[in-house]
Amino acid sequence: MICDEVRLRLDARVDDELPPAEMAEFDAHLQQCADCHTLQERRLALREVLARELPRFEAPAALRRELEAASHPAASEKQRVKPIPGRWWTLAVAASLAMVSVGSWQLATLRAKSDALTQTVLESHVRSLIGEHLTDVVSSDLHTVKPWFNGRLDFSPPVYDFAGRGYPLLGGRLEYVGERKVAALVYGRRKHMINVFLWPADAGMAQGPTTETRHGYHLLHWNSPDFTYWVVSDLGTTELEEFAGLLKGADSVAASPPPSP
Ligand SMILES: [Zn+2]
Repeated sequence: MICDEVRLRLDARVDDELPPAEMAEFDAHLQQCADCHTLQERRLALREVLARELPRFEAPAALRRELEAASHPAASEKQRVKPIPGRWWTLAVAASLAMVSVGSWQLATLRAKSDALTQTVLESHVRSLIGEHLTDVVSSDLHTVKPWFNGRLDFSPPVYDFAGRGYPLLGGRLEYVGERKVAALVYGRRKHMINVFLWPADAGMAQGPTTETRHGYHLLHWNSPDFTYWVVSDLGTTELEEFAGLLKGADSVAASPPPSP
């Protein structure tokens, strides 16, 4: 593994998400490369600060109680199911309780996953701001930035320039979000930086925009038919939503078929 490959996998490594073979190669490289070793230490230190400073997901009390009850099915059945005669009735109640607890688990898992994703995206944004790695390709020309991703990603990210609207394209870079290699596009607004993270959307995951504020940063997230978008900045939400609107508008223009003659 060379330094570039190691650095791309840094996030996955500190999250313990690398396949075992790659992890061994990664660690072997760090044993003999002081630069990469230092990078990893800084990354771990930053992670610790963010973990300490950023709010964590707390399961709502009702969900927590339900999960606790679900993990003691014997006790909860005794409490909730009165001894009503009829074997079928008891079975039906037991089955519906099981469904409730499975549903709650799925909900909790889904929420925890989306929380971890928000955290990962925010960390990537913050890291890019502290001068570690803002852009791999520095250009305001979308015809330079878009082809730069060729061969570096397994998809071709849509790249637009909104300089005319006051949001110039500054460049792009590769990022890992979880185990997925994603495109990060950097746009500017006066002295503010906007990171746009995007990757192909999972089928059937279309959903409207969500907005979240963490630690003074705003995160906008939505799925277009083709891509999952995360937009992060310390820019005010009004401007950030205007910017997101430009992205969505450009996307739907690009997606609509050319007018028939
Ligand atoms: Zn190295």
